Amino acid sequence: MHKYKDIGFALTPQRIAILEYLDGNKGHPSADEIYKAILGTLPTMSLATVYTTLAALNKRGKLRMLTIDPEKRRYDPDIADHSHMICISCKRIIDLDGDAHYALPEALVKDFSVLTCSIELTGLCPNCKQQERASTEEDQYVR
Ligand code: ZN
Ligand code: MN
Repeated sequence: MHKYKDIGFALTPQRIAILEYLDGNKGHPSADEIYKAILGTLPTMSLATVYTTLAALNKRGKLRMLTIDPEKRRYDPDIADHSHMICISCKRIIDLDGDAHYALPEALVKDFSVLTCSIELTGLCPNCKQQERASTEEDQYVR
């Protein structure tokens, strides 16, 4: 397990399982989702271990905690600067990659040393938009 040897904490099987689950994970999972996903193959996993490991990774700058979902904290192993969009229906969080530029109101930020800039978009993902449209059409048909 050379890959994680510089992580800075003791590598237990539980912690390794969490690290492997998160590695390259683009799903922005919650602690509960991580716990449930691992529990099947590692019955000794506990939710407390998930939380303490996530906190330790975050503290070491290896994991981002996202607050875009008001219902639960979500986690992102991609620590590169990027923004997110969340679907208010299925709660999917989608990366807003690319060279996104946002016009900052210069007059307002001129005396402020900006360190990071991220935006959060909320809306409906293509799947949910389509479902919504289908159910609206159904309603019309019933009437
Ligand atoms: Zn959706
Ligand atoms: Mn992300």
